[in-house]
Amino acid sequence: MKIFSQTDSRTFPVQSLTADLIVAGGGLAGLCAALAAARDGLAVVLIQDRPVLGGNASSEVRLWANGATSHMGNNNRWAREGGIMGEILEENLWRNKEGNPVMFDLVLLDLAKSQPGLTLLLNTAVYAVDREGSRITGLQAFNPINETFYQVSGTQFCDATGDGVLGYLAGAEFREGAEAADELGEKMAPGDNFGHKLGHSIYFYTKRTDGPVNFVPPSFALDDITAIPRYKRLTSTLNGCDLWWLEWGGRLDTVYESETIKWELWRIVWGVWDYIKNSGEFPEAENMTIEWVGAIPGKRESRRFVGDHLLCQQDIIEQRDHYDAVAYGGWSIDLHPADGVYSTHDGCRQFHSKGTYTIPLRSLYSRSLDNLFLTGRLISASHVAFGSARVMCTCGLLGEVVGRAATLCHRQTLTPHELASPDRVGALQQHLQASGCYIPRQWLDDPARSARVSASSELELQELPASGEWYPLAERMAILLPVKAGETLPALTFRLRSDSPQTLTLTLLGSLKPGNFTPEETHARSQIRIADEGEYTCDFNWRSDRDQYVFVAFDACEGVSIALTRSAPVGIMTVFNSLNARVAKHTRQQADGDYGVDEFDFWLPRRHPNQIMPAMRFGTLLRCYGAENLLNGRLRPEQQTNAWVPAADDTAPVVRWRWPEPQRISALTLLQDNDFDNAMETVQMGHHAPVTPHCITHYRLWADDTLVAEVTHNHHSLCHHRFDTPLNAREIRLEIVATAGALPAVYSLNVR
Ligand SMILES: Cc1cc2nc3c(=O)[nH]c(=O)nc-3n(C[C@H](O)[C@H](O)[C@H](O)COP(=O)(O)OP(=O)(O)OC[C@H]3O[C@@H](n4cnc5c(N)ncnc54)[C@H](O)[C@@H]3O)c2cc1C
Repeated sequence: MKIFSQTDSRTFPVQSLTADLIVAGGGLAGLCAALAAARDGLAVVLIQDRPVLGGNASSEVRLWANGATSHMGNNNRWAREGGIMGEILEENLWRNKEGNPVMFDLVLLDLAKSQPGLTLLLNTAVYAVDREGSRITGLQAFNPINETFYQVSGTQFCDATGDGVLGYLAGAEFREGAEAADELGEKMAPGDNFGHKLGHSIYFYTKRTDGPVNFVPPSFALDDITAIPRYKRLTSTLNGCDLWWLEWGGRLDTVYESETIKWELWRIVWGVWDYIKNSGEFPEAENMTIEWVGAIPGKRESRRFVGDHLLCQQDIIEQRDHYDAVAYGGWSIDLHPADGVYSTHDGCRQFHSKGTYTIPLRSLYSRSLDNLFLTGRLISASHVAFGSARVMCTCGLLGEVVGRAATLCHRQTLTPHELASPDRVGALQQHLQASGCYIPRQWLDDPARSARVSASSELELQELPASGEWYPLAERMAILLPVKAGETLPALTFRLRSDSPQTLTLTLLGSLKPGNFTPEETHARSQIRIADEGEYTCDFNWRSDRDQYVFVAFDACEGVSIALTRSAPVGIMTVFNSLNARVAKHTRQQADGDYGVDEFDFWLPRRHPNQIMPAMRFGTLLRCYGAENLLNGRLRPEQQTNAWVPAADDTAPVVRWRWPEPQRISALTLLQDNDFDNAMETVQMGHHAPVTPHCITHYRLWADDTLVAEVTHNHHSLCHHRFDTPLNAREIRLEIVATAGALPAVYSLNVR
């Protein structure tokens, strides 16, 4: 037993820590920043004021992390974030394909806890900052659970708190609300009627029970449901993220009035549930109860800090490629009315760009201070651009960029501004890609130190054999095929049948911008007269002047069906001119006013297991999986498949990287396929399988005749191998033992 005598006063203990990088805020942005820097060898402290990591993606708020794949509802193909954000999505798919938010917490906590060099302070809030001149030198934080103050000093800082606590306290320049349209020429800039800021939301989960459940609303519940103009959209089955539009507070101060907003959201939530349970409109809700309600609101928008570049609408819509592009986004510009759930406007106004856009390093640090990186939703972006860049996988990607940028600044004693200069930023772009981060329209220089590469075989496509299944051509459908510069698209033979004689029209379409998958040009047209079931050939006889994907598009044709195959070659897919109601209103993007956006058709894939592929025969072999792809530094399908794939009858696929002289190798990063088109939303939605079919699940790496790594049960596209004692070898050999069911596909082996 301990007895403590009376005293005049007491203070809580102070613990001092020092780090190379201090990250405030443990949402996906902050976590990825901390992991990246720690993996690069920096001493990192990550400070998070909540008991779990993930911010809005955590079980405390329960939003599904989205990014450039946009629920697979726009034209961004193979756009899932790579690097650490990709690793998180893949790990969550593997452990938690059902989308349980508590399991997602566990994935994040496990990653942080097992990372050497990373000190994690949970339940700890940053509340003060020390500054000398234009540098932050330290910060203070407090954990009320262990009653401990922390004094954390360091050389570099990263604000990932969402609200920008660090930048605010350090006096950095910031903005709130929307820019006027004429400031940056942004036609989507909202007027006062729509409002200038997005609000908070609170979600709830419901569950079915064995018997009737009574619900007595609290005194503060909304009692007139008609106060919500869209109340007729409520159903008893809506859950979690489906309720994103229970939003409010955009006209208030979203930092200082956050508690007021939360109470109003609780009022709304309980009013909605009262309506569902007690109005009599939903008899099926009798045997239902609430399983969970958010106790803290999800915050969308507050402070945005100012860097050397303010990302704006035109950067996104025109898909500008900045000289210092270090990351990318692909969510629509998604603005919400400030009155939220009480607004008579739609819950959101979304406009997509024709493909992914890049984000410059100059938007990822404060121009007011010499050592403050910005990441997550507070980066240097206009209100309109924030409307797209704010989604969490984009934030996670930006986190990794900042973590790796901090490494280079640390090693070379640079400020972020200096690193962003045209002659220096290339080093960061290369470092990011060598670590497995994809940057659109860029490539890794010489991934394998000028090695010669050879493979046991290469897949050459002659035929995708029919499986016996048929698919009616009831809507416009296209096959995405790669064509190389100077080559002619092979004649394509399909198996078709029709109830009555019909003429089927096929169109060959292409995108104007390299790497886009929005068809804007018509290259050729062809018609097939279908009478009986049989094989029909379409030969566009069209030669490509550049490496690119083309769309072989079938018009809808009443009564006509096409034979399908079970083959699903990497980098070839079927898309449909269709609609994903989560992110669009029509099969074509149309603007109901002059918003400075493009009009174009959406061509969308289907999610596994509902994706299909027509059976076909190629007039000449389609050679798009050569081993030379392993050396082009392109890390996923873009203008070509960029993958090496072995022949289907190769039972022991092997690739060799050889050098004339022995190489000293300290790390190998294998980048292989785990279907970068598959949006792996983190919670609620659920997914078909824990790993995608092409993923290599079992492989061996040899350095000359020494086995240096054998990995079983792999489920990642990015596999890092570091060697404490560097290897000395003339040859690295990859032996593929097993995949998750389909042919493997490898993009690169990065040798360091
Ligand atoms: C209701 C809603 C719906 C949304 N829908 C989606 C969606 O479907 N998909 C999607 O991807 N995005 C969605 N977004 C956007 C997205 O959630 C945010 O933009 C994103 O969470 C920003 O990530 P972040 O890491 O910057 O911030 P956050 O996720 O907010 O994480 C910041 C963390 O920092 C912590 N913190 C704050 N202050 C301090 C401090 N003083 N000290 C220490 N820690 C601190 C916070 O507690 C928090 O955990 C939505 C947002 C909201 C609110």
